[in-house]
Amino acid sequence: MLASRLGFRTATRSLHVRPRFQAQAQAHTKRLSGHQLRQFADRSPYSQRNGQQQWSRIGPVRNAQYLWRYHRTAVLSVGGAGVVFYVYNLEEVPITHRRRFNIYSPETEKAQAGGPQAYNMILDQFRGKVLPGDHPTTAMVARVVERLLPSTGGLAGDEWRVHVIDDPEQKNAFVLPGGKVFVFTGILPICQTEAGIAAVLGHEIAHNVAHHAAERLSSRLPLAAASIIIQLVFQTDAFLSDSAVNLLLDLPHSRTQEAEADHIGLLLMAEACYDPREAVAFWTRMKKAEKYEPPQFLSTHPTHYNRSESLKQWMPEALRKYEDSGCEATGRSFRDFVGTMGKQLPAP
Ligand SMILES: [Zn+2]
Repeated sequence: MLASRLGFRTATRSLHVRPRFQAQAQAHTKRLSGHQLRQFADRSPYSQRNGQQQWSRIGPVRNAQYLWRYHRTAVLSVGGAGVVFYVYNLEEVPITHRRRFNIYSPETEKAQAGGPQAYNMILDQFRGKVLPGDHPTTAMVARVVERLLPSTGGLAGDEWRVHVIDDPEQKNAFVLPGGKVFVFTGILPICQTEAGIAAVLGHEIAHNVAHHAAERLSSRLPLAAASIIIQLVFQTDAFLSDSAVNLLLDLPHSRTQEAEADHIGLLLMAEACYDPREAVAFWTRMKKAEKYEPPQFLSTHPTHYNRSESLKQWMPEALRKYEDSGCEATGRSFRDFVGTMGKQLPAP
């Protein structure tokens, strides 16, 4: 009575309701019933209360109990090896010092996510739309990239290539690991100035600085493990468990990376003597340009509101870097000032 009020059942009742383990559980109790079953429970090494083996009436807890009681060695050895492997491969992200799991070197990251195959595929996709290398817009984007590179902690040595894709509908830009830059002309009116382009490319290059592609590739392992655990404990199919993992782990992980790229990008542009306040202005314009924004929990990106709040929070650090970089002395801040005072971008 007390046991049932506390949410536990005896082995006798629980064995009728657990679908996947039913057959195995029945094998344990095949010829037992009533008095014999109580004797069996009393002798069980896992008896928890007055010698009786008890099971939770909550399905997932009961499944976890079952795994622990009948597959303890497997749970301990696989789980233990997984935890050791995970902890052994933890490392710090440059600049923000966030701890993360990563099993790929920068070389493997480049080969997997930014190698010739990925690069050529993108070039093929936009064949005929890529502006020539000597086009004023390409030259200007290249100038911004060049100015950002010294702050990237060693990435300047990569083979950088800048491509501007003439597609006014696409408000987008991205940088492959290894240094292949793609900017769509659709984002340029939102950037307005070189400092605006620096805000976008600071963010995109920050993904490379933090080796986010390697982290995403590495995260497939723990995410797959989490999906299997959910299937075992909640008795769901792979689609449901993958969706749960995506919502609960993968999307928050993406948002963490995006926020981190905002943070590092802000510092990169400040170090390159672009006024970091231009990043806030850029994301405000981006918010106006984007008609629909999904709720944050369904999105790979932070909401515009959270993004601008975070940027404000990091701004004092970025402004310190901007001042410490000696921008005044080099005169670069004056050029940036001219840029932000309305110098229009060349038409693509
Ligand atoms: Zn991003």
